[in-house]
Amino acid sequence: MPVKDALSAAVKQGMLTLGQYRRTLARTTLPGVAVLGYHGLRADDLPADSMAFENLHVRASTFDAHCRVVRECCDPITLDDWRLAAAGRRPLPPRPVLITFDDGYRSVARIGAPILAAHQLAAVVFVCSDPILRRRLLWFDAVAARDGEAAVERWKACDYDSWSAGCADSTPVDDDDPRAPMTVDEVIALSKSGRVEIGGHTSRHPILARASRARQREEIAGNCEAVRQWTGRPVRAFAYPAPPPAFKMHIDGGPGKVNSTSSNKAKFRFHVTYNPRGHVPRSVQSSLRYKCKLDGKRYRKCSSPKKYRHLSKGRHKFRVKAVYSINHHDASDPAKYRWKIH
Ligand SMILES: [Zn+2]
Repeated sequence: MPVKDALSAAVKQGMLTLGQYRRTLARTTLPGVAVLGYHGLRADDLPADSMAFENLHVRASTFDAHCRVVRECCDPITLDDWRLAAAGRRPLPPRPVLITFDDGYRSVARIGAPILAAHQLAAVVFVCSDPILRRRLLWFDAVAARDGEAAVERWKACDYDSWSAGCADSTPVDDDDPRAPMTVDEVIALSKSGRVEIGGHTSRHPILARASRARQREEIAGNCEAVRQWTGRPVRAFAYPAPPPAFKMHIDGGPGKVNSTSSNKAKFRFHVTYNPRGHVPRSVQSSLRYKCKLDGKRYRKCSSPKKYRHLSKGRHKFRVKAVYSINHHDASDPAKYRWKIH
């Protein structure tokens, strides 16, 4: 875990302990439903750095603290509450919070369900049926274990058929592995608990946007049918596995109009747009960070405008990229600006 992430995690933990979140939340009316999107959970005694995408697996004690805040300071709702509100039949409470889990990790049944029950909270769990049925790792966990997390991003950019042939089938996993998917029995038990609604999340977690219509239908219908058979209920909610947002970086100005200047100073303004329509949703905007570098140096955190002074004569190259901090990976190509000081 990079130092920055460790620090922000420590600050958040501190805020939870000190009650900062509580005080802020108690004064706030939410503008809509706050959907808390979890993935897996992790035992407190699981050593750090022992699994890929660790940040997507929240520690049990942290999740418990989140649940306490939701219970004490917010108005936890179910998907049915939301449906009634959407149909105009019952208004939402002032601070509506919906707890969700993507992917169908076993840790949600083993660690999460008892915590939810202790706080009398409901949740929606969106499951991928193929790993559950075949006792396999989710494909991205298998790829990350074998080739590293960055390799997952490369596969996400591939078309469906290459992905399907290359890594969709994944590898077998032990039920005790912290990355294991739920068992069918656990899906059934969660559904029967009355506290958890089971939703669909495709059979094998492809990037649906990269698949043909026929393949999309296969992945969605197969998944929903499996869940219906297990739970005896139709699937009424679906979480769409999407590619990470595609950003485009723009540099709005540079040191010289003709890219040649006698000044040894430089100032760059930059911003990001969200493909394809240039609109960056607020939820994404708030988690965007920027990194830039000059010439052969390393990328460093930065903000717009970025200024340089005392630059040497000769050619220079400035690069800036956006970092989408939720998934901790770079989601855009850097924008470049080249110029010469004479
Ligand atoms: Zn997912």
